[in-house]
Amino acid sequence: MNEEITKKCSNCSIEKPLQSFHKNKNNKFGVHHLCKKCRKPISKSYRQRPKVKEKRRLYNKKYYRDHREKQILYIKNYSKENADCIKQRHKEYNQRPDVKERINKRLRERYKIPEVRERIQKNVKKHRDREKKTRTERINKIVDDFIEDVIRK
Ligand SMILES: [Zn+2]
Repeated sequence: MNEEITKKCSNCSIEKPLQSFHKNKNNKFGVHHLCKKCRKPISKSYRQRPKVKEKRRLYNKKYYRDHREKQILYIKNYSKENADCIKQRHKEYNQRPDVKERINKRLRERYKIPEVRERIQKNVKKHRDREKKTRTERINKIVDDFIEDVIRK
């Protein structure tokens, strides 16, 4: 797009470069008649209409299904390349006081449900048992390796 060309937004009447408008093939200059800033609240409320929301949801679902392999690959690659960055961002996000409070509140609420509490306690036990087991296995392996080493000598 040419930076020199400007267009007046039909809502805020400000002359803006074409980059400030969404593309629309059918219009003059190939852009929408409202600037991005003016169009944002409108398109947001449009997107939030139940019918549109449902349509978008279905479209996204279909798109994801049709491009599943590509999407998975993309996510995998992205996560791999940005692992540190993502981890850091999650850490920072989870440490925000408001987020922490929200997470804790949700956990407390969930913990009040007997089935959930039971499941959590069971999981904790399973996790502890597994840890114990892997620790024993690790020690056994070290002993085995050591014995083998001694025998070979
Ligand atoms: Zn505008």
